[in-house]
Amino acid sequence: MSTDVIVIGGGPVGLATALYAVRSGLSPVVLEPRAGTIDKACGEGLMPGGLLALTDLGIDPPGHDLRGIRYLARGRQAEADFTGGPGRGVRRTTLHDALARAVGDAGVEVVPFGASEVTQDDDGVTVRTGGPAGAGPTLTAPWVVAADGLHSPTRTSLGLDRDHAATTRPLRRYGLRQHYGIRPWSDHVEVHWAAHGEAYVTPVADDLVGVAVLSKQRIPLSESLAEFPQLRERLDGAPVVTSVRGAGPLRQRTTHRVAGRVLLAGDASGYVDALTGEGISLGLAHARAAVTAVAADDPQSYERSWRAATRRYSLLTHGLVQVTRPAWSRRLLVPAAATLPPVFRSAVNELARPGR
Ligand SMILES: Cc1cc2nc3c(=O)[nH]c(=O)nc-3n(C[C@H](O)[C@H](O)[C@H](O)COP(=O)(O)OP(=O)(O)OC[C@H]3O[C@@H](n4cnc5c(N)ncnc54)[C@H](O)[C@@H]3O)c2cc1C
Repeated sequence: MSTDVIVIGGGPVGLATALYAVRSGLSPVVLEPRAGTIDKACGEGLMPGGLLALTDLGIDPPGHDLRGIRYLARGRQAEADFTGGPGRGVRRTTLHDALARAVGDAGVEVVPFGASEVTQDDDGVTVRTGGPAGAGPTLTAPWVVAADGLHSPTRTSLGLDRDHAATTRPLRRYGLRQHYGIRPWSDHVEVHWAAHGEAYVTPVADDLVGVAVLSKQRIPLSESLAEFPQLRERLDGAPVVTSVRGAGPLRQRTTHRVAGRVLLAGDASGYVDALTGEGISLGLAHARAAVTAVAADDPQSYERSWRAATRRYSLLTHGLVQVTRPAWSRRLLVPAAATLPPVFRSAVNELARPGR
């Protein structure tokens, strides 16, 4: 099977890559081993920039409008509204269905196998595929965009992982999420800060909120939630309507985003932390930039555009995660944000604006 670009991974970034490719006149094929509607551990807050990118692709998934971000701890709170339009809380299953429908409408084939081997020469890339039932088709194309997630097998097979031992004190954080059948009590994403982690609450429908807990501790969600009495009180008696899903370690570093004719996009290209809820928005910016680079036959330009899209998010998110490592600084964060509203507002809106 031969095509213009093989997209490895049918998550939001892979599907968006396929849509950008079609828009550029390229003919993509997507490889995704998971059948049906795909769910995933996620806070499900689409920041305004990401929502604009989806709208631009003709995708308008239903959800709950998000007006801004609210930080809470020990009875204090700080709030910042988005200044460039709302974001939206959207269930991952809803987002996946909307993107998958658009990809189907655009005539893109989604091959139900995973990439098992990626080899390349000067002219193109060959991708062997496989699944539980055995080998699948072998595909060739001039280009591959790998959007195969946080633990990207393609990234590892190409030797693009950056060794964590090279960092002085690797910070391993994990995320868990679950949904509660309750009417949202806020139009803001709430981030509740506690000693060992953060719980963030995203309204995703008129009768549904998602709760994601981020922490360096690997303990059950029910135990983590004990750290957040104010949130527990809110959720008291609300039916739990999904099972717990988890992900991590969240931080994944890469040496390069381009290896010959293979480009990494979305979480596969590196990830800092879920604390600022930027992953999908950023991944959509990667998807667009990767397609621009392959359409121009200039893969190296993607390294520059990837950096430009990622820098602001990396600095702010990494900075926030690092600054809030000591217990004393975690205690001071919410009072400080409440005392300096312009600083909090500008940090929130730096992250909310569209990726380049
Ligand atoms: C707890 C938590 C909370 C988060 N909260 C938010 C938030 O509020 N807002 C936000 O924007 N982001 C959030 N994120 C980040 C967001 O979930 C990710 O950035 C986003 O899912 C990245 O999309 P992706 O398409 O790159 O990867 P994924 O969504 O992981 O998709 C990768 C796909 O690749 C497929 N795949 C894997 N291996 C292969 C293979 N060999 N061949 C073919 N396909 C393969 C997988 O099946 C999967 O479908 C959060 C993340 C976590 C963990």
